[in-house]
Amino acid sequence: MARLPLVAGNWKMYKTVGDALALAHALAREALPDGVEVALCPPFTALAEVSRALEGSRIRLGAQDMYWEAQGAFTGEISPLMLSDVGCTYVIVGHSERRQHFGETDAAVAKKVGSAFGHGLVPIMCVGERLEERDAGRTDQVVAAQMEAGVAGVGDGQAARLVVAYEPVWAIGTGRSASGEEANRVCGLIRSVLSERFGPAGDQVRILYGGSVTGDNAAEFARQREIDGALVGGASLDPQKFLRIIHSAVRSPRG
Ligand code: PEP
Repeated sequence: MARLPLVAGNWKMYKTVGDALALAHALAREALPDGVEVALCPPFTALAEVSRALEGSRIRLGAQDMYWEAQGAFTGEISPLMLSDVGCTYVIVGHSERRQHFGETDAAVAKKVGSAFGHGLVPIMCVGERLEERDAGRTDQVVAAQMEAGVAGVGDGQAARLVVAYEPVWAIGTGRSASGEEANRVCGLIRSVLSERFGPAGDQVRILYGGSVTGDNAAEFARQREIDGALVGGASLDPQKFLRIIHSAVRSPRG
């Protein structure tokens, strides 16, 4: 099966319910191009309303994080059951902001990935090196280790549905993106880890690039052989900017 590009908007901790609805409605009324899938990941408080706003459109809903248990005494957490209940298809797992500010470990990421699959959600698992790791020449080692740990509990039958986002931490929200060529190289490394672990299913995994993607640079990433779309933060908060990225990501499915 060919890989269909995915463009996912991570709204982070932005937008009240009213603002989120306005953005979702603005995107839902656009005629989106074929050859690309689109997902919106609003904050938890807006998921249910945005889900209703997207009914009848081709845009999918995603969450920005989840806990791995289905329910229980875990004050403040959100479960995979709750995300399915409000209509989520996707859930971002292991975003670098979760790793950096909230102490999320590779082991926690692996549990979340496994739990997402177990509850019918598709994890968008984020990996990426910090600037000091890149400067020390450790990019490949860091990304490969995050990949191996993150997919440790993924079954062979689940692997093809996984989405990975390569997001160099130094490129997130900084306006300094990786070059298309270098992002493609690291995404190729990610694919080789997946192929080694899952065989042919590794070829079906969609690998997104994230880190200061804009309407101006999106086409450069879309051209790359190993890149199957984008995880977009800042530029996904503006409908016109996000639409430009969506249109740039269209290509014939590959894989
Ligand atoms: C992100 O939040 O995953 C991200 C890549 O942010 P930005 O596009 O703002 O760099």
